[in-house]
Amino acid sequence: MRRRSHKGLLVSATRRTLPEHLRLLRAYPRLSLLGIGMLIIGLTLGIFLDSDDTVNDRSASILQHGQQVALPGGTITQVEPPQTEQAVAVPAVARQTNTPALQPEEAVHGLRDWQPVTVNSGDNLGAIFKQRALSASLVHNIINLNEDTQRLTRLKVGEIIEIDYDDDGQFSALRRSNTEQDWLIIEQTGEQLSSRLVPREITTKQREANGVITGNLFASGKQAGLRDALIMQLARIFGWDIDFALDIRRGDRFVVIYEEIWRDGEYLRDGEIVAANFVNRGETFQALRYDAGNGTDYFAPDGSPMRKAFLRTPLDFAQVTSNFNPRRMHPVLRQVRPHNGVDYRAPTGTPVYATGDGTVIESARNRPNGNYVFIRHTNDIVTKYLHFSRRTVNKGQRVKQGQIIGYSGATGLVTAPHLHYEFVVGGVHRNPRTVDLPEANPLSTEQTDKLLAQHQNTLAVLAELDAGQQAIASSIAAGQ
Ligand SMILES: [Zn+2]
Repeated sequence: MRRRSHKGLLVSATRRTLPEHLRLLRAYPRLSLLGIGMLIIGLTLGIFLDSDDTVNDRSASILQHGQQVALPGGTITQVEPPQTEQAVAVPAVARQTNTPALQPEEAVHGLRDWQPVTVNSGDNLGAIFKQRALSASLVHNIINLNEDTQRLTRLKVGEIIEIDYDDDGQFSALRRSNTEQDWLIIEQTGEQLSSRLVPREITTKQREANGVITGNLFASGKQAGLRDALIMQLARIFGWDIDFALDIRRGDRFVVIYEEIWRDGEYLRDGEIVAANFVNRGETFQALRYDAGNGTDYFAPDGSPMRKAFLRTPLDFAQVTSNFNPRRMHPVLRQVRPHNGVDYRAPTGTPVYATGDGTVIESARNRPNGNYVFIRHTNDIVTKYLHFSRRTVNKGQRVKQGQIIGYSGATGLVTAPHLHYEFVVGGVHRNPRTVDLPEANPLSTEQTDKLLAQHQNTLAVLAELDAGQQAIASSIAAGQ
């Protein structure tokens, strides 16, 4: 029986930083003198902080630098924490492009004392202004200024708007995040109200992380310094080839190169994965981001798409609590029956996805199957899903890959909540975890050449980082 570790240990994790500060300067040649001054201070601070082994909040769970970790095999491994970069205070550099010189108004703007207001349930701009003894006519004038300011009638609960007052305590300006990329700023100059959209400085940084699987993908991904959404992205990219719920093993390893989106000098969110390697039980899978004209998608270096006609797993791997070992003896009927599918143990209510596009040919309930759904796909393939607590599709309905068709449960002849999943090709049951799945169209030779040219660098980095962790991965795999 396979050993499962619920607490993954960090074995090897590294992250790198590009010289972002320099790129920043190049991208914004029109920085005001004030801005440059503050930037220099920021840079100095940044260099200082970078040289420090500062671990920020998101990597709080990561083991401290130099900590000795006893691995199950008795090995002692030095833990390298991911290099994290401290947010550097960079002044807002976005300015109206038609005012190259430092205007008095700009100087004032740079020194505004924004007072944040969090929008509560039931709040609107009128109520917020009233609470601050600002006049109703001011609200009226602001909202009716133009199309941009009209959007202030639809404030979102929890969002923050900011107000600045002049020396007499009168309204001076209001600022709101308009989109992810710009501010809406409304200013009062004398009797005059004006508004403008000010672009915020968005930069993309490339990051690298790698790790060896010692527990589940989530634990090991987090140890490598990856955030939840990025781990899910990684699982989605390789999810057509690897069953992350049941097929992942200790000693499997990954390398991921991804983007971070930074705004106004602060981390905002993770962007897309650029390229990644996943070695599952000795087999290497490689995914490269490429836009063949329909938006970005992921391809193997030979131009074949990662995306397949079927998902390998009909539910989110993170929800699968354990490998549910089907015994040859039926647990309820107490007799030996063949088992034609895979059982995923997951809490009742876990969403179950159609693994491919198709038509629902059965959606019903009976004694052995409980609530069940059968879907017919092209190539004479039928997928079957049993023991739902609830079905959400009807017979005859067309479904898309990834669409929720029901929720896992314990209906029918079962002893515990789980999903029973079958993959039937031409009337013959196949193992859904290992069956060769029909592929979508590969890239043309020309496109594949472009893909490889674009990723010349990333492929080298993937190979280098992967080589660096092979020995550790082997020792972990051997120790299981
Ligand atoms: Zn089963």
